[in-house]
Amino acid sequence: MDTAQHTDRDRLPRSIVCPRSIVVLSGGVGGARFARGVRHLLRSAEGEPRSTLTCIVNVGDDMWLNGLRVCPDLDSVMYGLAGVNDAERGWGRAGESERVSAELLAYGVGADWFTLGDLDLATHIARSQLLREGRGLAEATRVLTSRWDLGAALLPATEHEVETRVRVGETETLHFEEWWVRHRAALPAREFVRAGASAAVPAPGVLEAIGSADLVLLAPSNPIVSVGSILAIPGIREALAAAAAPVVGLSPIIGGSHLLGMAAQCLTAVGAEVSAAGVAEHYGARAVGGLLDGWLVDSRDAGSVPRIEAAGIAAAAVPLLMGDDAVTAEMARAAVDLAERMSRG
Ligand code: GDP
Ligand code: CA
Repeated sequence: MDTAQHTDRDRLPRSIVCPRSIVVLSGGVGGARFARGVRHLLRSAEGEPRSTLTCIVNVGDDMWLNGLRVCPDLDSVMYGLAGVNDAERGWGRAGESERVSAELLAYGVGADWFTLGDLDLATHIARSQLLREGRGLAEATRVLTSRWDLGAALLPATEHEVETRVRVGETETLHFEEWWVRHRAALPAREFVRAGASAAVPAPGVLEAIGSADLVLLAPSNPIVSVGSILAIPGIREALAAAAAPVVGLSPIIGGSHLLGMAAQCLTAVGAEVSAAGVAEHYGARAVGGLLDGWLVDSRDAGSVPRIEAAGIAAAAVPLLMGDDAVTAEMARAAVDLAERMSRG
């Protein structure tokens, strides 16, 4: 047998029969990497037809910039699944240039703290055009993503403009991206406000996807400004509470800190403990009005499993560092295994 081939096969996740329909709640970069792992697992699973993957993506970071609708998390997931993301920089397109942004700055137009690459700008121009033609964000996202074989459907949490704002003073608030990208989260956050949330409804397809899912996974995305902003859309939390599918999450906090981003600052701002168990308790057990049936922590947080189970959430400790897709697929498989263990009671 060819050794290279053998090694390759060994790197595939153990073959399992996957749930037919998996829904992932996702932020941007962390969610994108996790979605690639889930897709890897599904592509190597037994049985036909293939399981479906639907990502419900946060839109709280979206904004209008230079007359264009920018959706950072939807684009991170689209680029990540398409394999056209800049993996080194961590955001945007690979092979990007910034000629248009340089020209805009020369005109004194736009935000100098938020550079839009030229390839990325094409996405925002296309999306804005579709929105101006009267299509909703879900349909605009379907059109944009149809260009690639993503192996997943991407749904915005809502088509309404619901902006995450960060209160940094008595009354002063900043758009989340301004707080994060411009100020690097250095201004202490006092509160996260979802402007426009009370009037918002879930995007077409969101409640249906949750209602018909066989498994709902919370990506190891930021629990406050990514997953939390999805949950702030009226109807979504209720749909998850009522879902027939188990809800299993993966901790974005490993050994007491986040990996990329600013989840620690966000958790502190809402009074949650910055730990794997703290995030599980923040989400809460579904059995007592929270969200989770199951929670995966990293192996180095194995000591917190009894505390999480005491809160009514099935828990297991496995490696949770997202390496390549095969490594990340093992995380997804562990979530499927935990759900199966729960269903066996
Ligand atoms: P954003 O919208 O681009 O900020 O991305 P997300 O909210 O989807 O993901 C950010 C979160 O991913 C952060 O809180 C990180 O702690 C978490 N994260 C990033 N890499 C890893 C990883 O390898 N493993 C785990 N468990 N979490 C990760
Ligand atoms: Ca984000």
